[in-house]
Amino acid sequence: MNQSQEDNMLRCLTLTAERDEQKRENIRRYSGFIDCVEIRLDLCESKTPETVRSLIAAADCPVVLSCRRKRDTAAGAPDPGAEILPDNPADEKQRLAILAEVLQPGISFVDLEADADSPDLLRKAEALNVRIIRSVHDFQGVPSDLAGLVKNLAAQGAIPKIACFPRSSGEALDLYRSCRKVEDVREKIVLGMGPFGFFTRVAPWLCGSMLTFISAGDRKGAPGHIGPRELEEVYGLSGHGCETRIFGIIGNPVMHTLSPRLHNPWFSSGGMNAVYVPFQVDDLAQFFRMAEEIGVLGFSVTVPHKQGIIDMVDEISDDVRDIGACNTVVRREKGWFGSNTDLAGFLDPLEDVLEAERIDRALVIGAGGAARTVVYALKRRGLEITVVNRSPERARALAESAGTGWFASKTLPSLMEFELVVQTTSAGMEPDIEADPLPDFIFQGTEIVYDIIYAPEKTRFLQRAEAAGCRIIGGSRMLRAQAELQFEQFRNSYNLWAE
Ligand code: NAP
Repeated sequence: MNQSQEDNMLRCLTLTAERDEQKRENIRRYSGFIDCVEIRLDLCESKTPETVRSLIAAADCPVVLSCRRKRDTAAGAPDPGAEILPDNPADEKQRLAILAEVLQPGISFVDLEADADSPDLLRKAEALNVRIIRSVHDFQGVPSDLAGLVKNLAAQGAIPKIACFPRSSGEALDLYRSCRKVEDVREKIVLGMGPFGFFTRVAPWLCGSMLTFISAGDRKGAPGHIGPRELEEVYGLSGHGCETRIFGIIGNPVMHTLSPRLHNPWFSSGGMNAVYVPFQVDDLAQFFRMAEEIGVLGFSVTVPHKQGIIDMVDEISDDVRDIGACNTVVRREKGWFGSNTDLAGFLDPLEDVLEAERIDRALVIGAGGAARTVVYALKRRGLEITVVNRSPERARALAESAGTGWFASKTLPSLMEFELVVQTTSAGMEPDIEADPLPDFIFQGTEIVYDIIYAPEKTRFLQRAEAAGCRIIGGSRMLRAQAELQFEQFRNSYNLWAE
């Protein structure tokens, strides 16, 4: 292993496959997407020097050796072979003895927990010129003295590794700030697990982390691991670093979002050094603090923050003021600017029809944030609108503020006729794809039926409409159109701050 490979080991594949043969296969399959591999001995079928040798032989890159105790693995992560190596003092001795036994030339780093003690292992590592990583795994939050821990471990001559689990936007900010305090510790691994920590996995330089871990297949090494291809093809990590500008999407939950798959390729094809990252956010004020400190230049806003964000930004567009929902925020010279691209994105697939045909009456199903935008957009086009929603009070509130008619879902008269039906609820969205927001609604076959859900492509509601002879429009066109409009703003923000 040469020095430059060890200096550049950004993407570390944790070998989590069930069979050792599959682990070797994964090293070969993902060789173009990884810079190093981690052999987790606790996840190996056979914990022998020969197995480790065969894995080293398959890897043309630096190798990290570890053997996790049960308490250092999260629920949901693969079972760490607990039957063989349970957490008790006798077996702890055995665990460390096995780790020392399999340590051999070809291994660049051995990871020993900060509170574990193994003079034999440390002696052997020194003799073999293997670097020591001392790790702390905290699944209960962010260690209150994370910076002190890092300094302490570095002072012992080890590479500190802290894997912690921020449980809120506030803890994500704590994690980031703690890492800023130890910027001078050049070689360290600090990663946030789970959705609130996900940004550290795809932009590890933000925490000054020398690498990020990934796993192939369904067995993930830790919460928040993504696959090697996703890290490269969606987030383009190998081309990024401290100069990379940060954009993203905020929501809660947010990990299901498809938006990184749209925006990141646009950034790279536009030659921009930027990455678009999902941020799980439960507290907008804490997120804004972090966004300022990280230097976020723009972000998309999704459920449940489209309304709450309005009070947090410095300036809003007229559409945001009128609709009461904001899905795009960019950093301008005078501060944060909020706008709404859902409106134009929603109209985009309808423009030709509205131009060519007479469409007077629309039924809008739903009364949430998306429905507000849809009602506003259609009213602007002069349509007469009826809102129908599961909860009558929300239907009434939207109807009263927009000046439309309304019904509760159960009381919608069957004789009413509409040229356009727009479905804006989340009923029928993955994973609950069998749900139908208005199961008793009978299509005439003449309506245009537009469901703004984009996953699945064709909801149960749309399938029913199509079977009745209606023309149908799915939500992916809106998703793309609103994202394209957002991207124009992101590009302007990027150019503004590049100067
Ligand atoms: P929201 O503010 O949380 O509103 C949810 C709406 O769905 C409410 O009207 C709610 O009715 C209704 N609802 C939820 N579960 C239901 C069920 N089982 N049966 C009947 N009604 C149900 O969410 P939103 O921001 O409006 O988003 C709604 C959907 O639009 C999501 O699927 C989102 O992905 C999609 N969307 C798509 C795009 C795009 O680009 N294609 C853009 C924005 C949003 P109650 O009031 O009775 O709770």
